[in-house]
Amino acid sequence: MARPPVTLGPALANLLSERPGEACGVFGILLPGADAARLTYFGLFALQHRGQESAGIAVSDGETITVYKDLGLVAQVFDERTLAGLSGDLAIGHTRYSTTGSSVWANSQPVYRQLGRNGIALAHNGNLTNTSQLGDELGPVAGTTDSELMTEVIASEMQGDVGLADAMERALARFEGAYTLAVMDRTTLVGVRDPLGFRPLCLGRLGDGWVVASETAALDIIGAKFVREVEPGEMVVFDGVELTSRRPFAEARPRLCLFEFVYFARPDSVLHAQTVHAARRRMGEALAAQAPAEADIVVPVPESGIPAAQGYAAASGVPYRDGLVKNRYVGRTFIEPAQSMRDRDVQMKLNAMRGELEGRRVVLVDDSIVRGSTTRQLVQIVRDAGAHEVHLRISSPPYRWPCFYGMDTGDRSTLLAADRDVSDIAAYLAVDSLAYLDLERLIAATGAPADSFCTACLSGDYPTPLPVTTDKYQLERS
Ligand code: AMP
Repeated sequence: MARPPVTLGPALANLLSERPGEACGVFGILLPGADAARLTYFGLFALQHRGQESAGIAVSDGETITVYKDLGLVAQVFDERTLAGLSGDLAIGHTRYSTTGSSVWANSQPVYRQLGRNGIALAHNGNLTNTSQLGDELGPVAGTTDSELMTEVIASEMQGDVGLADAMERALARFEGAYTLAVMDRTTLVGVRDPLGFRPLCLGRLGDGWVVASETAALDIIGAKFVREVEPGEMVVFDGVELTSRRPFAEARPRLCLFEFVYFARPDSVLHAQTVHAARRRMGEALAAQAPAEADIVVPVPESGIPAAQGYAAASGVPYRDGLVKNRYVGRTFIEPAQSMRDRDVQMKLNAMRGELEGRRVVLVDDSIVRGSTTRQLVQIVRDAGAHEVHLRISSPPYRWPCFYGMDTGDRSTLLAADRDVSDIAAYLAVDSLAYLDLERLIAATGAPADSFCTACLSGDYPTPLPVTTDKYQLERS
């Protein structure tokens, strides 16, 4: 299983790093008599969009826990042969995009820690904000991620006859920041969301068994019934076929990442009881009301801008057209683009249709701008295809503040809007006009209560105390 770290050439590393990272996907299942690893594989397949760097499954047959993980997409990491070696009816799985720690095999998940005849496997989505403090408390620990530290803390609490759920309850008191976890030992599965519930987790039922997953789309794929969302600050424990719910925290208040609604989550998932696609359409409608444009066509940036562009077109009456085509097969490739392609690497993913764009005044709709490099090239591609005017409409506010809760969008120096106003940004992107959806309108479009979100990346309003430094990469232990 172990293999040396992959090193990317500079141009390709640049291409990949220009696209900010995604949160991770977690999955867990306990279904007596089932092939849990195979079901987890399909769950992870539906969560692939939450992390493309590595994938892994831990499975227990009641006696032994087996872990298989590697760098790559779910379908690259697992095949019939590897799945055949993973037997048992209790499993967790993970898809990873690094937010802290580098992209090496050792940082892939689930993290595993042997404990006598038992063991703990852990899958984490989020980012702790007290990593250095925990690291100081624990001393040297293998790996560089906060997830390794969490596993160590849980293991240190699981001494004597203390069971997994009790050990976790004690360990959780020592964690600060964002964590949605699926954790297992040989016989028990535990799902938990931090008291602010930054990252989603849902609960599903399949036959006599239970499933937890980052998004409802992972329940759909295996035919599990969506029961409800695991609540912020809730710990669900599955022991045999029984479910128990615990509330280990004195206070819990929902602060779901608003960016899950804007970009992260799959459109077919349900968050805060709202279908994400419908919410994104409403964002587009609100954007049309807030920032109309004299134009001939509305064109989405596929795929993230499609629902908002549909909403914008419907509300404005300006016709919707597909002016850009996305190459579906662009994933992680280790081939360096040729020198002549390097300033147009976005074209590997998106190409313009001249027939739709030529001579037209275009409203180009996307969900967000983070670093601005993709968007800038895209605008040029649209102009090169003959568009007369480009009016850029973004269905979220300017992304100004770094995320410390599980999203790898870089520090302030990399964020286009950090120190620029909208007219500077419009000039940099070379558009004829630019508008961002207001925060209030965005939240209203989700259909969920305003005080139930973390809006830190858009408002600078962080719901937890941060370490003294605001350089997010100082949170990394290397
Ligand atoms: P850029 O212009 O380079 O900031 O890229 C903007 C594009 O990145 C938009 O199409 C967004 O949908 C997309 N985007 C936003 N957040 C993320 C993220 N966390 N990971 C990958 N892409 C993202």
